Parts: sequence; structure tokens; C-alpha cells
Amino acid sequence: MTNTIWYENVEIKSFDQLNKNEKATVCVVGAGITGITTAYLLAKHGVNVVVVERNQIGSATTGHTTAKITAQHDCIYHELISHFGKEQAFQYYKSQEEALTKMEAIISGHEMECHFEKQDAYLYTNEDKNQKKLEKEFEAYQQLNINGEGLLELPLEQIPIKYGLKMREQAQFHPILYIKELVEAIIHHGGRIYENTPVYDIDHADHRVVRAVNQHTVICDYVVIATQFPFYEGEAFYSARLQPKRSYVTAFTSNKSYPGGMYLEIDKPKRSLRTIRMDDKEIWLYGGESHKTGQYKNEDSPYEILKRDAKQTLNVDKWIYQWSAQDYETLDKLPYIGRLNKKHPEVFVASGYRKWGMTNSMVAASLITDLIMDHKNPYEELYRPTRFHADPDMKQFIANNSNVAKEFIKGKLEGNSNSIDHLTEKSATKIKHNGQTVGVYKDASKNEHAVDTTCTHLGCELNWNNSEKTWDCPCHGSRFSCEGNVIEGPAIKPLNKVDLKK
Ligand SMILES: Cc1cc2nc3c(=O)[nH]c(=O)nc-3n(C[C@H](O)[C@H](O)[C@H](O)COP(=O)(O)OP(=O)(O)OC[C@H]3O[C@@H](n4cnc5c(N)ncnc54)[C@H](O)[C@@H]3O)c2cc1C
Repeated sequence: MTNTIWYENVEIKSFDQLNKNEKATVCVVGAGITGITTAYLLAKHGVNVVVVERNQIGSATTGHTTAKITAQHDCIYHELISHFGKEQAFQYYKSQEEALTKMEAIISGHEMECHFEKQDAYLYTNEDKNQKKLEKEFEAYQQLNINGEGLLELPLEQIPIKYGLKMREQAQFHPILYIKELVEAIIHHGGRIYENTPVYDIDHADHRVVRAVNQHTVICDYVVIATQFPFYEGEAFYSARLQPKRSYVTAFTSNKSYPGGMYLEIDKPKRSLRTIRMDDKEIWLYGGESHKTGQYKNEDSPYEILKRDAKQTLNVDKWIYQWSAQDYETLDKLPYIGRLNKKHPEVFVASGYRKWGMTNSMVAASLITDLIMDHKNPYEELYRPTRFHADPDMKQFIANNSNVAKEFIKGKLEGNSNSIDHLTEKSATKIKHNGQTVGVYKDASKNEHAVDTTCTHLGCELNWNNSEKTWDCPCHGSRFSCEGNVIEGPAIKPLNKVDLKK
């Protein structure tokens, strides 16, 4: 099925489940790049830190990223200037550039071998309307003093363009080799890490009590929620403010040499490209086909579409990997990083990176560490999770929530077939069984797996994802295996299994 390049020949230390009640100053929940970087910075400052991870370190989005480390976050600076003004747009850029510099310093400080290399980042278009958009983005670069250049051709000659925009001196790396070293440093500084331990709640008394599903707890002063979608919302309404988007990556070798650069097409369908040199082979990572999680509309599999496109333009020699992952978007496109809300100032959140989590995780780790250590941080206000701007938040809030409401109702009204007689192997359908909607997957050995397709997070109706063979929630991004086990997203409980013989 799918496998990511980032675990190939990489052994990352593994840790036990939380098997006792722990005490710490800070409990970080989630061991992706955000949780691990935050724990690293805290542990280095001598803070007593415990990390609790549902699955394994880096196994969610961080292990399925494309790992461009850049402040070129698609077309964003012109939009930020129009919505928030030049000062805030510049702050965003500066925080991202500083993040890149901090990552480079950590990498060289620890002498990490994590394929870190400087690369220019490119946006490009072949459409008139998007040429205008990119030209405006270039004007924004000039206003913000961003080191960039407008272009009529890319270094990569296979991709002809109408217009392109370069941001100089960005970078790329191998994310799992990077967090592997951070994990070693956390342990070296006295931090503790627990894996295979889903967390479901936080109680508030004199201290915070972080509750794991296996009944053990971490008693602490501060909690950092680094789980992408917060498992604990504390009346901060993240369900109405974060939207999950999934996208896909294929990896291959090519007959052509690669001139360098990290590329992102801004026309639809968007495409992303970078390479990484491993075992003397240049491996091309080609991604796209982004869609709202649980709402893929095409007949063809996203992998097939990507492969078709790559074959046409990029001289593919051999396919090697393919994988997918998801990230969340906020209402105004800036991440939510900081205190959960006024009611819970000891709880911190970092989410909504819009698929730009390499630098944003560093921004988050630095900002949250400063808040915990009572240090000033210039970006506290910019990323404050409770902010709400009339424009663009309100417009996006209405769009997101009517989409959620539509998916919620559509699922309940959906006409389902009454039989699985014609269900072929490795496919799924929904049926009505005793008046209930049931999802049935028939595996390669013709075993049927029947589950209640009501999401255990907030009750939305799940949709089948045929590329990954999973049940995905179109509202908040929870995903379940065909047997009903939670894979990712805010759901904690598995789906109810259904006995079709009853
Ligand atoms: C296809 C794709 C390509 C991308 N490419 C780039 C790129 O080139 N450059 C870039 O900057 N960004 C990119 N991104 C975005 C970036 O990968 C993510 O923003 C980043 O990895 C998020 O890291 P994280 O640590 O916040 O989340 P994750 O890596 O998802 O980590 C969250 C962790 O929390 C754990 N968890 C969840 N719930 C619980 C719970 N209840 N209890 C305990 N643990 C829990 C999960 O198991 C997981 O390990 C890409 C994203 C996608 C989808």
C-alpha cells in the first residue's frame, strides 16, 4: 500500500507505554516535530519534561511530510499585508526566517547528519490570472524586504512556466533523522518519553492532571498540546476553527539530472517537488492532490493521478514510495500557537500549520518555551490562538462550518445499499443494517469488517478512503482503520464493530 521514505534505514529509539503515574513541570502531548522540538528546548533549559505519544515518535504527519524548510508558504505575503497590514506580514516572515536559522544552528550544534541543505524555493504558474497573483506576491516580497526574484523560467527545464517567484537561501532536510537526534538530546537532559499512550483529557486543580487512556496520569504545571488537532478543547472551539486537508506524495528516480530547488505550482491542481539524495540515488518527491480529509471527489486514485502527471513531465525511471498525510488550516491561515485560552493559561496549543510545519514547529516550540519560562516573545500576539478578525475569520468560519454541517447531514441521509453481495475484495460499502448505517470492508482474504460509521469524536458520518483503506471523518479529520481502530485525528475511541449476523 503506502510507505514513507523517511523511515527507510532509520532506527529511532523506542519507548515504553506510560506504565506508572508521572510528575513533571511540563507534559508535552504528541511526539511529532512540534512536541519533540518543544520538549528539546525545555529540557535544554533544565525544565523537567515528559512527552506522551499516542503511537510512535514522528509516526503521524511529521513522518509523512516533504520537509521543505522555508518561509515561502505558497502565496501568502500579499494576502497577509491586505488583511493584517505590513507590520504583521513582516512579523510572520521574520518568525519563519528565524525558525530556519534556529534549526540550522541546532543541526550544526549537534553535528546532525540529516541531509540538511540550503536550496532556493520557487512558486510558479502557467495561468494569466495566477501570473498577476504571483506578481503581486513579488511586490509583497519587495515591501517586506524578502530576498526573492521574479522569473520567466525555472532551473528545472522540464517544467515550462509563464511566471515564477524565487525565495533565496531556504532549506530542506530529512525530518526523522533530525527528530531522532532531538530525542537523544531530550533523554540526555533528563526528559522522559512514553509511546503507545493515547491521552484523552486534562483535569484542572492545583496542578494539571493529564489523563491517558490506560488510566495512568501525568501531574504537571503546564501541558503542551502538540497533537495537531487538540485532543482537549477547553471551550476554545477548535472544532469550528480548524480544517483538515490531506495530500499525497509519490517518490521516484528519474532519467534526468536535477538542477536543485524546491518547487510549488500555484495553479490547480497544485504540485510540489523536491529531491533527496540517498544511497547515491537522487529521489524525487512529487506531491499534490490535496483535498479536505474525507471529501475526495475524483474517481481515480490520487496516487495514479500524480504518477500520470509525473510520467508526462519528469522522466520517471522507477517508482519507489508513496504516502499521504494531513495538516490543519486555521480561519486566517496563520497557525494557532500559544495559550489555549484565558481560562486555561497553563495549557498551550500549536496547530494549523497549513502544510508548513517545519518552520512553524520551531516557531511554536520557541514561543511556548518562552511563555512557560516567562520570557518575552515578539510573536505572542501574532499567533495567539484566541484571536478573531472580522475579515477573513468570519468568512472562513461560515464556509468551514457550513461544510461541516453539510457533511454531517449528508452522511445521515445518504442512500445506502442493502446488501454486500456484490462487494469485491479490497473495497468497502455502506449498508443499512437493523436501521443503522454500517460500513463494510471486504479484505483480500474475503473477510468482512463491519463498523458503525459514526465518528466517535463528534458524531459526523465517516467516508471511505479507498487509497488508504480507511474510514475518514470529513468534519475534523479523525481516521480509522477498516477494523475501526483510531489512526489519527481527535477521536480517541475506536469505531463500534457490528455483527452482521445479528
Ligand atoms: C503531504 C504533506 C507534505 C508536507 N510538506 C511540508 C513541507 O515540505 N514543509 C513544511 O514546512 N511542512 C510540510 N508539511 C506540514 C508538516 O509536515 C506538518 O505541519 C508537521 O509535520 C506537523 O507536525 P506536528 O508535530 O505538529 O504534528 P504530527 O507530526 O502529526 O505529530 C502529532 C503527534 O501527536 C500524536 N497524538 C495525536 N493525538 C494524540 C493523543 N490524543 N494522545 C497522545 N498523542 C497524540 C500523534 O500520534 C502524532 O505523533 C506537509 C504536510 C503534508 C500533509
